[in-house]
Amino acid sequence: MRTKAQYMERLGKMERNLYSNGEKIDRLDERQQGAINVMGLTFNAVWDSETKDLCTAASHITGETINRFNHIHQNPEDLHKKQDMTRALCNKVGQCIQRCMGTDAANAIHTVSHEAQKSPKAKTTYHDNWLKWLERFQKEDLVASCAQTDVKGERLKRPAEQTDPDMYVHVVEERSDGIVVRGSKVHISEASISDEILVVPNRALKKGEEEYALCFAVPSDYEGVKQVVHFHNPRKRDHYERGFEYGYSDSYVIFDDCFIPWERVFLCGETQHGGVAALLFALFHRHSYSGCKPAMLDYVIGLASLAAEINGIEKTSHVREMLSELIMTGELGYAAGYTASDMGKAEVYLPGMGFVPYGPGNYIPNSIYCNVGRCLSGEAVFHEQEILCNIAGGMPATFPYEQDLTNPETKALLEKYLKRNPNITIEDQIRFWLSFVDFGLSGSAGSMLYGAYHGGGSPIMEQIAITSQYDIESKKDIVRGLAGMTPKRNM
Ligand SMILES: Cc1cc2nc3c(=O)[nH]c(=O)nc-3n(C[C@H](O)[C@H](O)[C@H](O)COP(=O)(O)OP(=O)(O)OC[C@H]3O[C@@H](n4cnc5c(N)ncnc54)[C@H](O)[C@@H]3O)c2cc1C
Repeated sequence: MRTKAQYMERLGKMERNLYSNGEKIDRLDERQQGAINVMGLTFNAVWDSETKDLCTAASHITGETINRFNHIHQNPEDLHKKQDMTRALCNKVGQCIQRCMGTDAANAIHTVSHEAQKSPKAKTTYHDNWLKWLERFQKEDLVASCAQTDVKGERLKRPAEQTDPDMYVHVVEERSDGIVVRGSKVHISEASISDEILVVPNRALKKGEEEYALCFAVPSDYEGVKQVVHFHNPRKRDHYERGFEYGYSDSYVIFDDCFIPWERVFLCGETQHGGVAALLFALFHRHSYSGCKPAMLDYVIGLASLAAEINGIEKTSHVREMLSELIMTGELGYAAGYTASDMGKAEVYLPGMGFVPYGPGNYIPNSIYCNVGRCLSGEAVFHEQEILCNIAGGMPATFPYEQDLTNPETKALLEKYLKRNPNITIEDQIRFWLSFVDFGLSGSAGSMLYGAYHGGGSPIMEQIAITSQYDIESKKDIVRGLAGMTPKRNM
């Protein structure tokens, strides 16, 4: 297992294919430092006695101790630990921990490549290729990002119906030694600080859409891959340093006729399995949300209750009501994830067939509970901001700049007029409001909220998963029975 320093050393040696703000930039560019700090924590956590047990696992391939972010879940306990690891590490940074996208894509591809390899038309030994990639991924303790979201062009048209066929990543040429792919995956979190990019399809696919049924891996600095990077860094601080300097990045990952050798291809043309790959990445990712969303709620509850304390309103009934609402959302999201872990099975939901055994035996969290948990807590993020806004009042919107807080001509005056609670030092009150501004009123806050709302699929996708997989007919039967109606199922 690596350390943060070793992870950074490797990043420093990568090829330059990152573009931002009109320039070509290095992996260790200053704007990447916050994101590197967050990712770095996932390395250092395995060497810390407090988090070591949660953050390590025994590889099911080699038996060696590996970083849990690179593990394939073998039982419900692994799913519980992934959820708890995510919550524990997110609590240390006050935001997303960034490394779960690779974990979730790896678990999805592990499952799907196994089934796809059985296909008589399989283009290569998908699962054998995958296992070789996975072993290196685990041994070298690599970071993967997951590229699922296609640009999608005209929203109501399927991939093959688009005016421009490159709106979904697809194969443009098949060669004896590999495939050539074209297209762009967008909003790909931490692709600019990852070692590898795992690519999975974006949606259910049907016959005629074979060229879009694709899973593969590329090094994130690979020839033929360009990344256009957007940073979500909070405002730089000179005087009131943060307890943890964080930051995030998302990339447009452009595959410009990029050659992928067969040994890095894990699915190519099997549309049904392509649809399952899309569904499974989303499912594993929604399970990850049952760790990170409760952690974000932990932070929001802390912000809301401290804002109430500083404003001297913590005992008021409306504040208590809002705090209880935040606690309910966070803990119900956690409970849904916990149940999804407990009910995990080596099964997947296939439309028209229900839950069927799928994959080589690795564990998949229960779909209904993943989706209800993610939907409940994901949709709540803007309401949480409303609660924070309600409790804080207008102060964060016009909070003085750091330079005015430290300028001798304004410092004492501002400290006098910013002070609210006499029992908390003004230094702490200033630090608190600066962090409050970071979380809800900064440029980076807006992007993070959009990510929290849409990541893993927009709420409508969860609603579709819930209503298509839930046994609504059995609920009708309950009413039919109690109303004395004819029980439809037994007719
Ligand atoms: C900060 C951030 C980080 C992200 N990180 C990642 C990542 O690491 N990897 C990754 O793969 N993705 C990532 N995403 C992408 C995320 O998964 C998508 O934003 C999400 O799936 C929604 O897709 P979209 O943005 O294209 O929105 P759209 O799908 O365009 O949604 C916009 C609206 O159109 C509606 N709509 C779209 N299509 C249809 C249709 N056919 N019929 C009816 N209504 C429709 C939607 O319901 C929604 O209301 C990230 C997003 C953000 C914001």
